[in-house]
Amino acid sequence: MSIESCVIYEKQPLLSVNEAQERIYAALTPLTQSELIPLKHAFGRTLAQTVYAPNNLPFARNSAMDGYAFCSQEMSTNSPFTLTQIGVVFAGSPFNGQLNKGECVRIFTGGVIPDNADSVIMQEQVNAQDSSIHFPSDVQFGKNIRQIGEDVSAGDPLCLAHKTLSAIDLGFLASAGIENVNVIRKLNIAYFSTGDELIGLGEKLTIGKIYDSNRYSLHGLLQNPNYDVFDGGVIADNRDLLKQTLQQAAEKYDVVITTGGASVGEADYVKDVLTECGSVNFWKIAMKPGKPLAFGRIGHCYFFGLPGNPVAVTTTFDIILKPALRYLTSTYSKKPLLFSACCTTPLNKSRGRQEFQRGILTQRPDGVLEVATSGHQGSHVLSSASAANCYIILDVDVTHVASGDCVNVLLF
Ligand code: AMP
Ligand code: MG
Repeated sequence: MSIESCVIYEKQPLLSVNEAQERIYAALTPLTQSELIPLKHAFGRTLAQTVYAPNNLPFARNSAMDGYAFCSQEMSTNSPFTLTQIGVVFAGSPFNGQLNKGECVRIFTGGVIPDNADSVIMQEQVNAQDSSIHFPSDVQFGKNIRQIGEDVSAGDPLCLAHKTLSAIDLGFLASAGIENVNVIRKLNIAYFSTGDELIGLGEKLTIGKIYDSNRYSLHGLLQNPNYDVFDGGVIADNRDLLKQTLQQAAEKYDVVITTGGASVGEADYVKDVLTECGSVNFWKIAMKPGKPLAFGRIGHCYFFGLPGNPVAVTTTFDIILKPALRYLTSTYSKKPLLFSACCTTPLNKSRGRQEFQRGILTQRPDGVLEVATSGHQGSHVLSSASAANCYIILDVDVTHVASGDCVNVLLF
């Protein structure tokens, strides 16, 4: 469904989390613009194009260990044998001579295998006396050689488009000699807090005021090499100011995120303002914490209006916003891994919303995963969220979990 055709859903039944995610995906257009950057700058970035191997890996046959290389043809392994060492092969300096019957070379790991050699025997198995190398009867021929292309053949795909480049990928691409990579450009994101009650760190706390914590949570949640992030500060509960600030931000950023002001309180202007300057839906999602969510567009900019309560912010970010931002940066997206754990504390909830309770997941010595509630589950309670390491996901219809029941958990 396009955003333009959406209406305000306030009186509609609650939207399931899946439905909200699907509607958001349907309305987003992933970035396609790319930039060529040095491999070293590409950690965590999204590949815009598949990268192919320019060469075979390994490029040349080489030794898998420190030992002795020789040609085993016309030899038998039934009895001990002695070969004459005629040279030494270090990694980086191949052997130029000719290896004949009865001869071997000393070779080190990574050293190029001489042309007609087919076996490397590790040094611990031999007895070397000057250039006479004595081999026991139980050695195996044809081993310890890394073959050309056994890792990758020239022309093979190394990393596919839309992959997020990991540390291993950087090493892998470097091993193939890839100097620069084409990645999706960064997503420009601005975020704001709203509320007259908010004060900044360093200011004195007085009755009625609270420290603005949401911008700090968002600062952490938005740490991602694919994002360029701007902290826009606090917008007071003032209609005109809000309108002006959001309109200006929408001209500069791909995504604008606000927290607070999105419900139906007297001072919740986000809704009024956005229906004037954009096409934004106000959803009530069947999730807890995090029921109210505004999503839509102001011009070319996507707008996400998160709830104000601090734990609702982090939960809606993790469950709704994070996958949407990944989708926007064209990142190949996998469903998050859920683990089944034995719940060691009884849990209660009301029917009607999917809950993302905060829990502490541990592993018993026998390997069984156990999870316990991390404490008070209020959506304003950051202490129990801070103590937690996972969400305990309880489905819409669940009302009670007994101690010993299995539950699904999602690691933070
Ligand atoms: P609101 O949606 O604006 O009514 O906010 C809901 C609750 O979240 C209220 O208790 C607010 O004081 C609180 N809240 C809103 N924004 C923030 C913020 N940036 N940091 C901490 N708490 C906030
Ligand atoms: Mg408010």
